Amino acid sequence: MTRTTSGFSICVKIIFSILAVMCVAFFLNNRRWFHKKSPQSSLKIDFSTIEKKENIVPFLVIGSGPASLAAAVYGARSRIRTVVLEGNKPGGQLTGTSYVENWPGIRKIRGPELMQELQEQAARFGAIMISDSVSSVDFSKWPYTVITEEGKVLYAFSIFIGTGASARCLGIPGENEYWGKGVATCAICDAPYHKGDTVLVIGGGDSAVEEAMELSAYAQEVRMIVRTDSMRASASMIERLEGCGNIKIIYNTSLTHVNGDGNHVTSVDVINNETGETAVWEDIGGVFLAIGHLPNTKLFKGQLATTAGDYLVIEGRQQMTSQPGVFAAGDVADARYKQAGVAAGDGIKAGLDAIFWLSEMGYNRHVAEAMEPYFFDPHSDQKIEIAQINSLSEYEEYASSAKEELIVLDFYTPFCPSCMHMMPVVQWAGTKLAGKVLFLKVDASIGFDVVKKFQAPQVPHFVIIKNGNVVARSNETMDRAALYSFIKEHITL
Ligand code: NDP
Repeated sequence: MTRTTSGFSICVKIIFSILAVMCVAFFLNNRRWFHKKSPQSSLKIDFSTIEKKENIVPFLVIGSGPASLAAAVYGARSRIRTVVLEGNKPGGQLTGTSYVENWPGIRKIRGPELMQELQEQAARFGAIMISDSVSSVDFSKWPYTVITEEGKVLYAFSIFIGTGASARCLGIPGENEYWGKGVATCAICDAPYHKGDTVLVIGGGDSAVEEAMELSAYAQEVRMIVRTDSMRASASMIERLEGCGNIKIIYNTSLTHVNGDGNHVTSVDVINNETGETAVWEDIGGVFLAIGHLPNTKLFKGQLATTAGDYLVIEGRQQMTSQPGVFAAGDVADARYKQAGVAAGDGIKAGLDAIFWLSEMGYNRHVAEAMEPYFFDPHSDQKIEIAQINSLSEYEEYASSAKEELIVLDFYTPFCPSCMHMMPVVQWAGTKLAGKVLFLKVDASIGFDVVKKFQAPQVPHFVIIKNGNVVARSNETMDRAALYSFIKEHITL
């Protein structure tokens, strides 16, 4: 008996040891699961329970540079309602570039032209372009809230961030004071103002070369100030400088002060970084900064993870940020490549990631149809007025000239609270279905012959007329979705 018991306990011990080893192996293989919850798994969405709010946007793109527009092309092309908030500088940094020669498949194209093409492509697939900027975001609850500078409040199911980067400044005395009075970052914009001047370009990268070349067509002399003994620009860009006799490259030098007469830059203080020798350069007409860019992530501070250099953190090979359903690409999230082509490629990945994510969360055609009445409509502030008829002869006049497939009669009285509640809903539907449905309001306390003809027993009462025949009627007090689907099923054209 004792022997049997000890044999059994040995077996149990062996089984437990095997299980323990298996557990340890499983833990070691899947350490990531224990350390960090996958962003996808931390959010489960039941779209049917979403509060019906105005201004829902399934895919909201913030920015309009190459990354943003590429993401928008993919979102819109997959028939997901895509809204692009273009920001203060539609088209982004490429609109301030002269020629782009490294966009795959195009030998040479002006930056603004390339961006125009991308914008038109996204719009052609149905992306809605809004010329407005974001003033704040709230990612603490879903759908995510985005408030624009014009005061629109949007609720986004998924978001793409392509806010890019802004030109870096030196932070030296005089720089702010003479900003726009000779200190600038865009030679393509300001070069014509420097005819015959001596101007400085600060930096030794590709941007600096571009700025110098742009200026060389106008200025008498362009001095490129490089802080070390070498330039960072690519060899092909540096070669281009050789053809411009009025561009001088001055190495190991930094600017320390911008001076002026109160209205304009007149001179600068410089230092030789090798010898420590300082000098004042007189007769300087302009200072163009081309010392790189800083990612535009201020809006997202505290809500999305950022790197030490303030770039948005991207999870693995996908373009997802630290927040589920929020994606990013381009200069706002790329500290390494900073190329328009890479931004567009990553924007495509982000667009696809957003599509996959929405689908994984349960967003599909049926959800989209049910939510459509609540989608952000850029034309919602251009509401059409619903015509009022008070007699059968007025009805017949409208009916005989109507181009719309359906006529909807809205019977009401001014004393009926439900009718008043329905008024904005009817106006919304009239705007939304303009061209397809003609809405007519009938005050049932005046238009007795219309009430009699269409047998409206009480108010509110809706009658749908197609080809002169009544095809549906309802006494219900409906919300947007209900009224929309009640009418829509009779539209065939
Ligand atoms: P880069 O980061 O490539 O170059 C910045 C330059 O500014 C470097 O020479 C850097 O010097 C210098 N710099 C940085 N901080 C200071 C400072 N405080 N004082 C003085 N100098 C400073 O930025 P770019 O904007 O030139 O280019 C960004 C990206 O865009 C690159 O990948 C570039 O290839 C790309 N680009 C491509 C173009 C094209 O193909 N047509 C055109 C323009 C840009 P240091 O080297 O010492 O750090």
